[in-house]
Amino acid sequence: MDRLTIPFADMRIFECRVLTFGLCAGISLRRLKFLFTAAALSIILFTTAFAQVALPAEHGKREADLIELTKLSKSIKLDIKYATAENFVGRPVYPEARAFLQRPAAEALLRVHKKLKKMGRGIIVYDAYRPWTITKLFWETVREDQKKFVADPAKGSKHNRGCAVDISIYDRKTGKAIPMPSGYDEFTERASPDYTGGTEEERANRELLRRLMEAEGFTVNPSEWWHFDHNTWQQYAIYDIAFSDVERSHNGRKH
Ligand SMILES: [Zn+2]
Repeated sequence: MDRLTIPFADMRIFECRVLTFGLCAGISLRRLKFLFTAAALSIILFTTAFAQVALPAEHGKREADLIELTKLSKSIKLDIKYATAENFVGRPVYPEARAFLQRPAAEALLRVHKKLKKMGRGIIVYDAYRPWTITKLFWETVREDQKKFVADPAKGSKHNRGCAVDISIYDRKTGKAIPMPSGYDEFTERASPDYTGGTEEERANRELLRRLMEAEGFTVNPSEWWHFDHNTWQQYAIYDIAFSDVERSHNGRKH
């Protein structure tokens, strides 16, 4: 039982006691009933709101085994937009520019990075594991009409499971991201992995990324060419481990 839920029978006993106390204190019965109803309604509204924002509980999932991507390869580049003001919230929401994925997804991404390395390119990461509290913050920040672009915290996101990653490709000569049909987090039709516009070079770059990622067990998001889910995502729960606590969550575990 939720610790904030008051069963109906208990509520009736409580109501009788309050009424008896109130009548002894000389407060009218009608006023007391009104006060009691108002208090009961406040409790119900509060508990409903509380239930909506609770971390979804899941059972039978694997323990988190988050791996820091830059520790797998120093040449995996980070451009963590949520650690800067350059995102739709307009301020940094991550305290640190770091990127983690669950071990199988992290190792698969490393294999893609190694293939790109041979082509004089590499992976640039915009976002990876995202603590659930941040998903909740996004939900509370956006307007009603923008909610379709963010994950409902009641369901969580594959980023919360540490199995989704937002990436692009960079050129090792310039150190810059190569041209793609749209910018990152651009919510237009150009962001679709099947968008037929843009230049031939942009589409070829997007296709290269998709082909390499699909060969390693990732699936591209139907409306975002940069977002990939690893096929192990159902094995992992929704986590709310802060970046600074990821190492501590590994303590005592052997790999
Ligand atoms: Zn994403």
